[in-house]
Amino acid sequence: MKSKVFFIKTHDGEPLSSIAQKIKLLFDSAEIKSTINRGDMVGIKTSFGEKGNIGYIRPPLIKAVVDKVKVSGGKPFLFETNTLYVGKRSNAIDHLMHAHEHGFTIENTGAPVIIGDGLFGEHDCIVRINQELCENAYIAGVAKASNSLISVAHVTGHLATGMGATFKNIGMGLSSRGGKLAQHSGVLPQIIKKKCNLCNVCKVWCPANAITMGKETAIIDPEKCIGCGECLAVCQFDAVKIAWDEDTINLQKKVAEYSLAILKEKKGKVAFFNFLTHITIHCDCMDKPYKPDIPDIGILVSKDPVAVEKATIDMVNLHTGRDYFRSIWPKIDYTVQLEHAHKIGLGNLEYDLQTLEQV
Ligand code: SF4
Ligand code: SF4
Repeated sequence: MKSKVFFIKTHDGEPLSSIAQKIKLLFDSAEIKSTINRGDMVGIKTSFGEKGNIGYIRPPLIKAVVDKVKVSGGKPFLFETNTLYVGKRSNAIDHLMHAHEHGFTIENTGAPVIIGDGLFGEHDCIVRINQELCENAYIAGVAKASNSLISVAHVTGHLATGMGATFKNIGMGLSSRGGKLAQHSGVLPQIIKKKCNLCNVCKVWCPANAITMGKETAIIDPEKCIGCGECLAVCQFDAVKIAWDEDTINLQKKVAEYSLAILKEKKGKVAFFNFLTHITIHCDCMDKPYKPDIPDIGILVSKDPVAVEKATIDMVNLHTGRDYFRSIWPKIDYTVQLEHAHKIGLGNLEYDLQTLEQV
């Protein structure tokens, strides 16, 4: 049987109040209320965006989800986890202060923020999944404890997975720092000697102190490198290379397997929003105010994470007239995460799309 996916159009510059009404309509149409029992602690997973980033989903839109969860009898909270890399979100205190600065206050959203894996990423749970690459997954304690889960993902390109949306939001976004390390293990960047000008930036950003400046080039210590990809992201001189052909396949499969761990005990208690708005080549973990690469398309929602991701790809390709994510990250086969998620039983590649009328 096909999974149901609901869609509503949005357009560039649309007022947030109008989009918020559309989110509420999607919530009702997809019957997300049925995933919430009275008194459930409902975790709403989104990203607060790195400092300097402008792509994250704005607090008034998150409030629309929060309001509907309350009406449905649940107790909503927003949650995120600590990042691997140096930035404003690598420990709970900096992360909470940063979320507040980006407007994710109780006054603005109606719900508190919880950093789901503790002060430094120490609060995790081991979930046995026995999959192709991961026997166990290390997920944020709060992700396991929450009764229901609503993923609110911003669809973007991604330097490591080609595309980032629902699976990136939950598989990577709700793993603990230990889980993120496990997913990135196997990714080992190399420095291209003739391009490196010893600017030192990668060394400053490397969270594992794995980079030193040699006489002619930066040097990565493979024993210390945790594969986070941060040096690739920050190098302005294209001097860092990662063999994505091999590395991205395992990374994407692990993201899917971690999604399985997150969703394992939440059957019938989950829903997934994908925002096809302000779509950028890089994800919201980047500390840059990237402009949208294509016009806004709309919002999709489903109770099936595979179906919503497949509908997202189809919708973006339809609107751009090309295999969009492949065109922006040509060396990465971004479909691996989707196909692996389907293969391990996370959902259906076939879906019925219902387009809602404008409100
Ligand atoms: S950021 Fe790039 S150019 Fe600068 S030291 Fe690192 S590899 Fe070399
Ligand atoms: S050298 Fe390794 S640990 Fe350091 S930033 Fe690059 S990928 Fe991350």
